[in-house]
Amino acid sequence: MNSTRTPLYKVGQIKKHFPVLGGILRRTKGYVKALDGVDLEIFRGETIAVIGESGCGKTTLGRMLALLDKPTGGELSFDFGQGLQDVTTLRGADQMRFRKKVQMIFQDPYTSFNPRQRVGAAMDEVLRVHGVKDEAERTVRIMEACEMVNIRPEYLQRYPHEFSGGQRQRLAIARCLATKPELIIADEIVSALDVSIQAQIVNLLLKIQRETGLSFIFVTHDVAVARYVGHRVAVMYLGNVVEILPADSLPEAAEHPYTIALLSAVPSMNPTAKEQRVVLQGEVPSPIDMPSGCAFSTRCPAVMDICRTERPVLKISNISKGDHQVACHLNKGAK
Ligand code: SF4
Repeated sequence: MNSTRTPLYKVGQIKKHFPVLGGILRRTKGYVKALDGVDLEIFRGETIAVIGESGCGKTTLGRMLALLDKPTGGELSFDFGQGLQDVTTLRGADQMRFRKKVQMIFQDPYTSFNPRQRVGAAMDEVLRVHGVKDEAERTVRIMEACEMVNIRPEYLQRYPHEFSGGQRQRLAIARCLATKPELIIADEIVSALDVSIQAQIVNLLLKIQRETGLSFIFVTHDVAVARYVGHRVAVMYLGNVVEILPADSLPEAAEHPYTIALLSAVPSMNPTAKEQRVVLQGEVPSPIDMPSGCAFSTRCPAVMDICRTERPVLKISNISKGDHQVACHLNKGAK
């Protein structure tokens, strides 16, 4: 995106290392580096689709951005309207203000609803927690949100188990919308749904974005969904973003060897696609014992000596330039 614009949310070298305990005394033997220095900027009104294999850290990144987990290091800054402000140290009312602005939707919405509470009451409770004291205002907000996701008002009297997976996901989206957020983090929200329902939910999000100008971070393992829903796609590999590029430039513009391999694994209607498929050799490194240079160096078909000692950083692509960043020693960076 345009570097002269102020991002809504800025992620700077964010890290999340989980200690690995061992021995009789349960001492720390090492760390699982779930996130190891992620940089990302999210702008108003855009959707960033975050893709990568399972275990690459995309869900951890989503939870970190929603402040559901505390980062081990790095910076998270959000623009409440007066410029970027550090949010990792927010407490009490300030943290609640952030939670109202940044909402998260999970893969299984059933677990985020109380099975013994009617869905209307659950939505009402969220608004009360976020300080909407006036009952009439809460009702109006809930009705507006339900209308946006095509849920009939009488459904609010039902319990979560009375809905299909797709309807529950719509209700989860409505519950977020009622708080009037600026950013929604959607973590694999269509993965468990039938393909036709997936398309309905994805199109619903696109419609909501057109109408409200909301920003989305859409975490998915499905490259086709990422291309369809995202303005930009961020590709993750072992706790790092290795490439960020416009969604409509995929697959042709992909430069990072991992992105190319990932995209080549997507089934294609093209009969020659099989010949173009990149089959990766080598072992996926353990997140407890990462290589010192590029994390992809153990599998990369283009590996060079420098890759084993020096970690590449995200730089603007010297080929595509503009909105395209690549963390690879093959990319010399735009002049
Ligand atoms: Fe491959 Fe080296 Fe680029 Fe890593 S930095 S992706 S090992 S060429």
